[in-house]
Amino acid sequence: MNESTNPDTAAQTAADDSRRYCWVCYASDEDDVTAPWVKPCLCRGTTKWVHQSCLQRWVDEKQKGNSTVKVNCPQCGFQYIIHFPNMGQLMLFLDRMDAFIYRVCPFVAAGVVVGSCYWVAVTYGAITVMQVLGYQEGMALMESADPLVLLVGLPTIPVFLILGKMVRWEDKVLRLLRASVRKLPFLRYVLPGFRSNGDGGPQGATSTTAVISDPINATRVLCGGLSLPTLATLAGRAFFPTCSTTLNQTLLGGLAFLTIKGLFKVYYKQQYHVIQSKRIIKDNPLHDAASSSNTSATSTSSTGTSSSTDRSGHNEGTRDQ
Ligand SMILES: [Zn+2]
Ligand SMILES: [Zn+2]
Repeated sequence: MNESTNPDTAAQTAADDSRRYCWVCYASDEDDVTAPWVKPCLCRGTTKWVHQSCLQRWVDEKQKGNSTVKVNCPQCGFQYIIHFPNMGQLMLFLDRMDAFIYRVCPFVAAGVVVGSCYWVAVTYGAITVMQVLGYQEGMALMESADPLVLLVGLPTIPVFLILGKMVRWEDKVLRLLRASVRKLPFLRYVLPGFRSNGDGGPQGATSTTAVISDPINATRVLCGGLSLPTLATLAGRAFFPTCSTTLNQTLLGGLAFLTIKGLFKVYYKQQYHVIQSKRIIKDNPLHDAASSSNTSATSTSSTGTSSSTDRSGHNEGTRDQ
């Protein structure tokens, strides 16, 4: 028996070795006798062979439409040698053109966007110059200036306006006022909004630092910076109608606008801070009714009384403050 079975199993393994299995579709030679086979990598054993068509499909899946992507064997990592038939000169040229356009388009698109932004900035700068100096003077200045200076100088106007808007001088003024009120208590009578500031308690100290600077909002900075010349012109016309030149009127108007707006902002931030530091979380008026019905329904009177004493403790605490 042994003598007969041993050669059989040996022959079986030999047949298994010579028999080819596709690692993609698991089919063997017998399943499809005509399908062409390929051993494309360094793998041995069961993953050595694969159908040409199965591997093509697998490569297509990996490349996702981009035929220049290199594909490696998932087992041994060997990079498949993919051979294309010789294409004609026209096909070669078209292929190169296609790859070139594919690579260049993102840069062209970025350039168009940057260029558009630049010209918008130049236009904005020119309008601002005319707004601040007056139409006649602004036109005369720009006509007499070097074109290069204009092309560099005009777009920096909106940039500086936006950067200037990001300087938060109101926060510094507020911080300075708070610090000086703490050092010089008599200032509290001059600045009533700061009276309650810093009067003991760790709560007040933490919220002082927390409230003072809120995060920069990009659209708000953009709108605020770019609308400043217009607002300055309007303020100049309103407050300084007898100014000699448009430039002086606009500068004074801008200064007045920024000062008034800044003072309002300091006031708003300080009042907001005071309101925040004085806030109290109120008792739930329905709680008593709910807890009494609870105690009557289920006999958990101990929890009910403990919570009520707790609450009264809180009440006394807030009354003390
Ligand atoms: Zn296959
Ligand atoms: Zn392999």
